[in-house]
Amino acid sequence: MTVGVISALPEEIRRLGDHLEVADKIARGGYSFRVGRIDGIPVVLVEAGIGKVNTALVATLLFDHFRCGSVLFTGVAGGIDPSLRIGDVVVGDRLIQHDYGAIVRGRIKPYRPGALPYGEAREDVVFPLEPALAAKLRRRLEGFELPLLPAAATGEAERRPSLSFGTIVSGDQFINCEDTRRRLFAEFSAQAVEMEGAALAQVAQQFGAPCVSVRCLSDLAGAESHMDFMAFLSSASEIAAAVLRRILPVM
Ligand code: SAH
Repeated sequence: MTVGVISALPEEIRRLGDHLEVADKIARGGYSFRVGRIDGIPVVLVEAGIGKVNTALVATLLFDHFRCGSVLFTGVAGGIDPSLRIGDVVVGDRLIQHDYGAIVRGRIKPYRPGALPYGEAREDVVFPLEPALAAKLRRRLEGFELPLLPAAATGEAERRPSLSFGTIVSGDQFINCEDTRRRLFAEFSAQAVEMEGAALAQVAQQFGAPCVSVRCLSDLAGAESHMDFMAFLSSASEIAAAVLRRILPVM
């Protein structure tokens, strides 16, 4: 089955594109889909742009038009868990749309996307990674050596990033605020924040198909996240893409 691979930004998918044997290029809905093979595996690669709507639209096309059996996201994210550092990789085993809900007394009360955001929140807000797939990914990634985060990027010595499974929260906001980082950690025990993954998870669930988000931290979502993002986008994208290529064969 063909695997759909999405990124938000050109940098995030560039390295994977280097390994793509392109068979066809198809324009649809204003997006450009590259159809081909990576390491012999049939894939459709697409840069969807930033945010949940772009992601949902492109994911729908991947399932319904390109007949993909699964979808993967490769990209960067802001770190929420203070034990993680720039360059570390989080594979999402719980995805949450942190910006869906009701505003009550100036604060967001989260609800499951699509649920009536009123009264008691009854449905779980989490889109979980299926346990059997999670186990397969863990086995595949065991002992996998991540690329080094280069000294030029860290300003210190080069460093081997860590890889863990964890909670990724998504919303249509770039988090550039230490108070919000703290809140997202306290409310969701999240490891990382980005702007697409949980939208992808919602679409994949509608189609009854697996989806995996691989994110490498480009910043730590605090007041300097915009500067770190620019400095680390390229090397973090490369690290995420290496992990994605590693898991392709088990999708
Ligand atoms: N300042 C950047 C903003 C890009 S948006 C620019 O001008 O280009 C950030 C992208 O990277 C999104 O696709 C999102 O998924 C991810 N991301 C990285 N760090 C993030 C953060 N701190 N908060 C939210 N999304 C983040």
